[in-house]
Amino acid sequence: MDSNKRMSELLFGNITKTPEDYERIYPKRNLEEGAVVTRFSPSPTGFLHFGGLFAAFAARSAAKATNGVFYLRIEDTDKKREVENGVSLIVKGLKDFGIETDEGALSETEEKGAYGPYTQSRRTEIYHAYVKSLVEKGLAYPCFMTEEELSEIRKKQEAEKLLPGIYGEFAKYRDISAEDAEKRIKNGDEYVVRLKSPGSAEKRIKFKDGIKGEIEMPENILDIVLLKKDGTPTYHFAHAVDDHLMRTTHVIRGDEWISSVPIHLQLFYLCGFKPPKYAHISPIMKEENGGKRKLSKRKDPEAAVSFYSEVGYPKGAVWEYLMTLANSNYEDWRLANPDADIESFKFSFSKMSKAGALFDMVKLTDISKTYISRLSAEEVYDMVTDWARENNEKLYKLLVDDEEYAKAIFAIERGNKKPRKDIASWSDVENYVSYFYSELWDKKLDFADNLSNEDMIEILELYKNIYNPNGSGEEWFPAVRDMAVTLGYAKAPKEYKKNPDNYKGHVGDVAGVIRVAATGRRNTPDLYEIMQVLGSDEVMKRFDEAIEKLRG
Ligand code: GLU
Repeated sequence: MDSNKRMSELLFGNITKTPEDYERIYPKRNLEEGAVVTRFSPSPTGFLHFGGLFAAFAARSAAKATNGVFYLRIEDTDKKREVENGVSLIVKGLKDFGIETDEGALSETEEKGAYGPYTQSRRTEIYHAYVKSLVEKGLAYPCFMTEEELSEIRKKQEAEKLLPGIYGEFAKYRDISAEDAEKRIKNGDEYVVRLKSPGSAEKRIKFKDGIKGEIEMPENILDIVLLKKDGTPTYHFAHAVDDHLMRTTHVIRGDEWISSVPIHLQLFYLCGFKPPKYAHISPIMKEENGGKRKLSKRKDPEAAVSFYSEVGYPKGAVWEYLMTLANSNYEDWRLANPDADIESFKFSFSKMSKAGALFDMVKLTDISKTYISRLSAEEVYDMVTDWARENNEKLYKLLVDDEEYAKAIFAIERGNKKPRKDIASWSDVENYVSYFYSELWDKKLDFADNLSNEDMIEILELYKNIYNPNGSGEEWFPAVRDMAVTLGYAKAPKEYKKNPDNYKGHVGDVAGVIRVAATGRRNTPDLYEIMQVLGSDEVMKRFDEAIEKLRG
């Protein structure tokens, strides 16, 4: 037996499957020309963060745009950082925002798809089969260096300003014989398996990143660790094996990995895999004190995805916002296609920001207002109710107690050409609807101070007489105008401005008094519609109460 073969049997005698077997088990996917396969592959270390959601959204959009496949892989090789229910937290995080996966992990124990297991801790045998084959080809070796030795090397490299890592003179076990390794293993010595990098310091590699463009870097010369002491793979090695066997065509990930691409391309090459295309996403940025910084898990509440569900941004609005962040041409597309389904927009990597998209709360609010303004009353009702069930019990009860009434409120000034944009998130709804519910309304009447109480009482007394709950929306305002004129108010603000001394005020002031008496507020949607929803008994009662208050 040749010595590499002896070494591979020594280290992986129990491994029977070969890379060829796995090639057969996970065949090339049968997809249409140009279809891309992408994945989101987080470590289950806690809640999903906005950056993760953004990466998942981009990966999903890329797959959807080409009728490809988007899957979820769990990278749980670092057990120390793992949290309980880590997988469920991620799955729920994605689901809350409507990001469905075609394949992959569904929970701690379940998954779907033919390219699994999709959880790295269940793929040990697969990794070992590939390392075994590398050892057999003389491209990997066991390294018995102790922590002390490694730390000595680190110190020396630091002091002499050398490239850190194991290579050249530092790669002490590069040429270890199978006999020597066997003795050490029998002796109980611990080891990692390292790549025997064939790279050269003089050579450079080039690749084209989907987002960042052409990149050139020195070739990898490090004998990086493939398998750790406990037999689990490093990120680098698992990435190569998994993305190859799961037939990923595009690796979309954070740009902290860009410096590792030379290692990754070398691994793909040495394992005989076709390398994927890379698209490295820059971190999402935030403006602060005139400068920019990364969106921070610690400082920014909006960095946690729970923020969006708690505040109640509809997932459709979050999608709109994510796409705005993802592709610089999306906003123009949306303006040109206000009614189109977001799925008909062609997502592309080249339109992603190289410098890092800028998180902008004002824009999110704007987008969400527009999104909500275009929903039907039924949709608003369903979404608010869903949100309130978990986030606002009082509101939830009111909404479900009288569904008709709530829907009538949400129907006010909805469905027309220029719908109002009063609601940015579901947390705005309680305040928005408060004067429709005695349980919510504080009955504070915010009258303007340009009219005397007597004038206001006069307006309300007269209006009570002419108010016609069966009249149409068209008749409503002219009636108020006629009344205003009768009482000595100008029939239009313009007229009043010309000769303010001739009038007590103008029709707007008169309507304003009626508005405040009925709702407490100076600004509301269409007052006629509001009064129709409140009903004439309630409206009359409110006028009487207002008159009473004004009398003092
Ligand atoms: N588990 C890696 C991370 O969370 C994934 C990087 C990748 O997508 O390849 O950073």
